[in-house]
Amino acid sequence: MALIVQKYGGTSVGSIDRIRNVAARMIRTRDEGHQVVAVVSAMSGVTDGLIKMAREISSNPSERELDVLLATGEQQSIALVTMALQELGVDAVSITGRQAGIHTTGSHTRGRILNMNPALMHQFLNAGKTLVVAGFQGVTPDGMIHTLGRGGSDLTAIAVAASLKADVCQILTDVDGVYTCDPRIVKNARKLPEISYDEMLEMASSGSKVMQSRSVEFAKKFGVVFEVRSSLNDNPGTLVLEEHPHMENAVIRGVSIERSQARVTITGIPDTPGMSGRILGALAEAEINLDMIISNIAQHDGFARHSFTMPSCDLGKAQAALKPVLASLAPDAKIETEGGIAKLSAVGTGMRSHSGVAAIMFQALGAAGINIGMISTSEIKIAVTVDETQIEDAARAVHDAFGLDKMSA
Ligand code: ADP
Ligand code: ASP
Ligand code: MG
Repeated sequence: MALIVQKYGGTSVGSIDRIRNVAARMIRTRDEGHQVVAVVSAMSGVTDGLIKMAREISSNPSERELDVLLATGEQQSIALVTMALQELGVDAVSITGRQAGIHTTGSHTRGRILNMNPALMHQFLNAGKTLVVAGFQGVTPDGMIHTLGRGGSDLTAIAVAASLKADVCQILTDVDGVYTCDPRIVKNARKLPEISYDEMLEMASSGSKVMQSRSVEFAKKFGVVFEVRSSLNDNPGTLVLEEHPHMENAVIRGVSIERSQARVTITGIPDTPGMSGRILGALAEAEINLDMIISNIAQHDGFARHSFTMPSCDLGKAQAALKPVLASLAPDAKIETEGGIAKLSAVGTGMRSHSGVAAIMFQALGAAGINIGMISTSEIKIAVTVDETQIEDAARAVHDAFGLDKMSA
C-alpha cells in the first residue's frame, strides 16, 4: 500500500461535477489499495473574486485581513470534496492548514513554510481516514492565518508529501503535464516526459504558472519527486525530479512567457561606490521583486544608468520608493518608465555545454520582425523583453527555432 498525495487545482474543483470527479478519482486510487491525501485549491475564480471584493472596499486592504479572507476559498472546497467523498461512502475528513501543522513565517499573503507538524494527519491516517487538506494556507507561530502566495496549493502539496514521506506526489491540473511551452499559446508544444527541478524552477519563475516556483524550490530541497498530470484523464504526465544522465538530451527544455511587465530606467546616477546598493535596497525594502537588472556607465557623461523590469502592478510602489532615495543621493537623476512589455525565456540545462544558443534565439526573433528590448542570461536561461503585443508570436518563433515540438535524441 502506497501513500499518495494528490493535489487538485482550481479548475479541477471548479464545479460540483468536477468536485464529484475528484472524489471518484480519489476513490479509484483508494480502491487500488492506496492511502490518499488530497490537497485542494479554491474553486477556479474564487480567490480572484475575493481579492476583487476586498479591493472594492479598500484600495489598499490590510494584508492580514486579506489572508483571513483568501483562506476561506480553500476551506469551501475541502468541505465540499469531503462531503462528496462521504456521499460515496468514504470515511473522509477535511483539514485546514493549521490542522495540517503547516507553520509559516514571513509577510502576510506571501507566507513561507517554517516547519511541518503532521501529527494530526498521521492520527487520522492511522484511523483509516481519507484526508482532504486545504491548500495555500498555514499558520504563523503566533496563530495568525497566512496564505502562501498565488498558486500556493502546489507548495502545500509538496510540503504535505515531504512531511508524510509520501510514496507518490501528483499535481493534478487542467493540462496533461508540463509542456515545452504553454499549450494554450503554442499549439504544437510537446508534453515532456521528464523535467529537472532546475529547469522547472526557471520555467515557473519566468511565467510558466503550471507550477508555483516556490513549490519547486521546496521539492528540490526535500527531494520530493512529483508528477504533473491531468485530473480529467489517465494519460501519463511529466515527472519533475533531479537531473539524471538518461534524461532526454535537449539544449532547450522549454519556453516561458510573462506578460504585464514594466521597465524602469534611472539615468544620471553618480558613478560612486554604494549607489546601486542604496537604490536597489530601497526597492527591496518596498518588497518589489526586480527581475532583469542591467546597469552601465554612459561614455558621454560618466553617469551610471540602471534599468530593471518588474510586474507592471508594482510600478507605482517602485516610483514611490525611489523618489526619496534619489532625491537624497542623486537629485539630477531621472526615472523613465515603460509599460506594455513582456518577457520571453528559453530554459534548458543543456545550455551549459552548448554555445550559440542565444544567437539562435535572437535570429529567430529578428526573422519574425520582433524587436528585443532587454536581454539577460543565466547558466540555464536566456531571457529577453519584447513588446507585449508580440509575445505570442515571439514564443512560437523561438519554440520553432529550437525544434521543441520534436523529441530530441
Ligand atoms: P491549477 O488550477 O490546476 O493550479 P494552473 O492554472 O495554475 O492550474 O496551471 C495550469 C495552466 O498552466 C495550464 O492551463 C496552462 O495554460 C498553464 N501553463 C503555462 N505554461 C505551461 C507549460 N509549460 N506546460 C503546461 N501548462 C502551462
Ligand atoms: N487559490 C489560490 C490561488 O488562486 C491558490 C492555488 O490555487 O494554488 O492562487
Ligand atoms: Mg496553479
